[in-house]
Amino acid sequence: MPGPDYLNIVCKIDTSLKALELLDLCQHIEDKQHRVRGVHWGSRTIDLDILLYGGEIHKSERLTVPHPEMINRSFALLPLAEIEPSLELPSFGSLKMCLEQLELSDIEKI
Ligand code: AMP
Repeated sequence: MPGPDYLNIVCKIDTSLKALELLDLCQHIEDKQHRVRGVHWGSRTIDLDILLYGGEIHKSERLTVPHPEMINRSFALLPLAEIEPSLELPSFGSLKMCLEQLELSDIEKI
């Protein structure tokens, strides 16, 4: 059974943080948001993922970049394509080609 609807956005940032420092920051923000959850929500209040870190590839216990699931997620690739339509994804090839493999009818732009 499908879960509840959710909102998803992709943003591009400039940062002086190293990749693991950026992950620390994302997890700190997640922790703070989780704490304010008042009622049983069913799904997570917030989930921050690092899709890409420039053109770099990272593989460690804590961090895999490009995010290994991103190419299966239309709700990640479609908003990413709005920001960087001609992006080449390290390991995965062109964003445009990855998007062509996905079913897009299950998401709605709002
Ligand atoms: P989730 O909350 O289900 O997105 O999973 C979070 C876990 O994935 C954390 O333990 C992170 O260390 C790990 N992780 C590995 N790669 C990434 C990534 N690219 N972005 C965010 N979390 C990641």
